[in-house]
Amino acid sequence: MSEPAIQPQGHIGIRPDKDTFLAEENPFEAMMERFDHAAQLLNLDPGLYKVLRNPEKQIIVSLPVLRDSGELDVYTGFRVLYNTSRGPAKGGIRFDLNVTLEEVKALAAWMTWKCALVNIPFGGSKGGVVCDPTTMSMAELERVTRRYTASIIEVLGPDSDVPAPDVNTNERVMAWIMDTYSMHHRHTVTAVVTGKPVEMGGSLGRREATGRGCMFVTREALAKLGMSLKGARVAVQGFGNVGSVAADLMAKEGAVIVAVSDKSGAVHNPQGLDIPEMLKWVKEHRQLAGYPKGEQMSKDALLTVECDVLVPAATENVITRKNAPQIKAKIICEGANGPTTAAADEILEKKGIFVIPDILANAGGVTVSYFEWVQDRGGYFWDEDTVNRRLESIMVRAFNEVAVTTEKYKVNTRIASYIVAVDRVAAMHRLRGMYA
Ligand code: NAD
Repeated sequence: MSEPAIQPQGHIGIRPDKDTFLAEENPFEAMMERFDHAAQLLNLDPGLYKVLRNPEKQIIVSLPVLRDSGELDVYTGFRVLYNTSRGPAKGGIRFDLNVTLEEVKALAAWMTWKCALVNIPFGGSKGGVVCDPTTMSMAELERVTRRYTASIIEVLGPDSDVPAPDVNTNERVMAWIMDTYSMHHRHTVTAVVTGKPVEMGGSLGRREATGRGCMFVTREALAKLGMSLKGARVAVQGFGNVGSVAADLMAKEGAVIVAVSDKSGAVHNPQGLDIPEMLKWVKEHRQLAGYPKGEQMSKDALLTVECDVLVPAATENVITRKNAPQIKAKIICEGANGPTTAAADEILEKKGIFVIPDILANAGGVTVSYFEWVQDRGGYFWDEDTVNRRLESIMVRAFNEVAVTTEKYKVNTRIASYIVAVDRVAAMHRLRGMYA
């Protein structure tokens, strides 16, 4: 077989240690616990509560796919549309052996709240195929992608459900989805997916958007504490798309990046690491391990290192009841989805740590995906400065709305974020009324 089509990533979805996957770490429960808290404070009508606790549509498909060997395999695929009251569903597609309907459902709900929080006109969805793309050829991956797209084609569309990349899918996969959908519809429909190559309707600034969004909200949080990015000591877990861009942009604003990690290990230097040089190192060596200018430390130790800002930007459930008491950061900016368990939240709150929750901190990605959809539909493309300026304005506005809600309800920032988001989705349902 030739080179695998997708290089192994081993982050979300590939759980680091399945035995430690406790109830504390069930993504649907963790999300629902926060939703319940927000719903209670909003005094949500019991009927609406039931509506918002259930996904609108759950699709399970069997995908017969020919392997290069001539053998026929059948893969299972899911697509969940959690809520579309505010607009077309928006959510990524992951290809992973650990994909389950329960997980896809949780992630679809998450997308619903995230889009509502940054006030973009999308609902939430998610999809996945149970497969191991690291063992598949490019041709096999293309056949799985096209068959999956054809099997769920009736829900897809710029006005109904717009996928994006997620674990083990990328812009190549998005291009195949766009092509398959367009062939069925007999004309080119670029706005059916986001995260596409720029040459075929992708947006400038999309690749950096999530890390850039993290930088904006961290800057705002620091200002609230009377500090600035200039001179702030930052530790970043994960040196992939989100972590490396966040580290690079924060360093450009004058922050001192004292530690970064990836799957291969962590590097620490209290005087500050040279992020552009580390980016070059990782490009060449494909991992951080061995980087010479700093002291090597264990991946876990990074989370409790002396710093002002901790950016978990790797994977879920890394801040738990076990390590939360040792965290020294004043601010946690959740670049990753679900890095903090509900039990850890309580500990962080008692310690007075300012948490910028995932649905706010990493919403820069979906915000620029929204820009991509707008540009595709308008057929008019913006320069990168325009994208970045508009992103900044949306992130800062959302940050301030959460800050006001935190004060108003006397809750932590995560619950405040859920309050803002759930209230917006609920308001739309009330205005629309219930079709019967
Ligand atoms: P990525 O695959 O590009 O990078 C992940 C990084 O984390 C890699 O450097 C990997 O080596 C590292 N890593 C994995 N396990 C680790 C561990 N135990 N300790 C330290 N490092 C570890 O992925 P990404 O796109 O940067 O996504 C990271 C997180 O951000 C995920 O939770 C993802 O869902 C979330 N997110 C990403 C985007 C986006 O636009 N890319 C948007 C929203 C949320």
